[in-house]
Amino acid sequence: MPDIILRNVQKSYSANSPKAVSDLDLHIGNGEFMCLLGPSGCGKTTTLRMIAGLENLSDGEIVVGDKVVDSPARAQFIGPEKRGMGLVFQSYALWPHLTIERNTDFGLRLRKVPKAEREERVTKVMKALDIEKYRTRYPSQLSGGQQQRVALARMLAVNPGVLLLDEPLSNLDARLRLEMRAELKRIHAEFRTTIVFVTHDQWEAMTLATSIAVMNEGTLQQLGTPNDIYDRPANRFVAEFVGSPPINILEIGAGHALDLAVNEWLRPRLGTRGEVGSVGIRPEALSFTTSEAAVPSGSFRHRAEIGGILPTGGSWIIELKVDGRIVFATTTEAPTLRGGETVWLHARPTALHVFDKARNRLEE
Ligand code: ATP
Repeated sequence: MPDIILRNVQKSYSANSPKAVSDLDLHIGNGEFMCLLGPSGCGKTTTLRMIAGLENLSDGEIVVGDKVVDSPARAQFIGPEKRGMGLVFQSYALWPHLTIERNTDFGLRLRKVPKAEREERVTKVMKALDIEKYRTRYPSQLSGGQQQRVALARMLAVNPGVLLLDEPLSNLDARLRLEMRAELKRIHAEFRTTIVFVTHDQWEAMTLATSIAVMNEGTLQQLGTPNDIYDRPANRFVAEFVGSPPINILEIGAGHALDLAVNEWLRPRLGTRGEVGSVGIRPEALSFTTSEAAVPSGSFRHRAEIGGILPTGGSWIIELKVDGRIVFATTTEAPTLRGGETVWLHARPTALHVFDKARNRLEE
């Protein structure tokens, strides 16, 4: 399966609208499961549609293997049907008058694949997606989730080298969504298809992807493994977009006791790393204890008061207050403390994400 390479891709829908995608460089390797992640309007769908050939580039180029599939400068454009990619969108359309088997078979018939091979491939994907039992039913006799599986099966049956999925699980309830994620992972492992998956759901991206491209306002913010994105966010946008409850941000210069304290604590430890603009601490990396002696040596610490305690089913979100400033910690141990009690909040140095004034990560 060929790699997909986007070079300096630009997209404007009209001369006077802001760019939907700018300066995008992306290398999608063979067999990768790449998630394009970002808020609504950040350019994810536009990017996917350009890879598919459903949207032209304004500038830059897309190369698939050794073929330039779109390059305005070279007046080169290869249509979607010749790119060997399968697409499943949020709204998938099954043929209502065809059985599930015929729906799954549809692309293979179109490609005039011989009958024996068609049967073999359809049976294989139907088994993989657990829809064999619906073979003779019609789409209207299936649930939304089952229909979505048929849409995927139809795509997989033609064995596309690349599968492009735009929020394909968005119509499903929470449980089905989870099941389908597991299913997609299995499909990816079994068929070794390159998958590009658009989502605005960070958990979806974290659980599925081998690499995540985080986008905002048409530009790539960070490309990395789910762990990279979570543990070493390249900038404030990525740090704040990924993680729930969201990362605590202390603004240096905000004048609050906690913000000042963390700045004081950090300054001698930063050396020549540059000027701090803000510090992020993920809620699960923020701990608290009643006795200062229990704070690990070398950790940042500060006195705080317990505010609210919010049970979330198996874990708790704890509100910690310092002079009216609130930060959140999470814990999986049932809290024995109550609101109003005084504690020491603490965090290990490695748990502090330090950003400069331009909101980019200050590298260690
Ligand atoms: P969502 O998650 O809401 O689908 P997205 O991240 O996929 O958002 P895009 O759909 O790629 O974002 O849109 C990027 C930008 O381009 C937005 O500002 C959007 O309004 C604009 N846009 C998208 N499609 C068109 C179009 N056909 N004509 C004009 N502008 C468009």
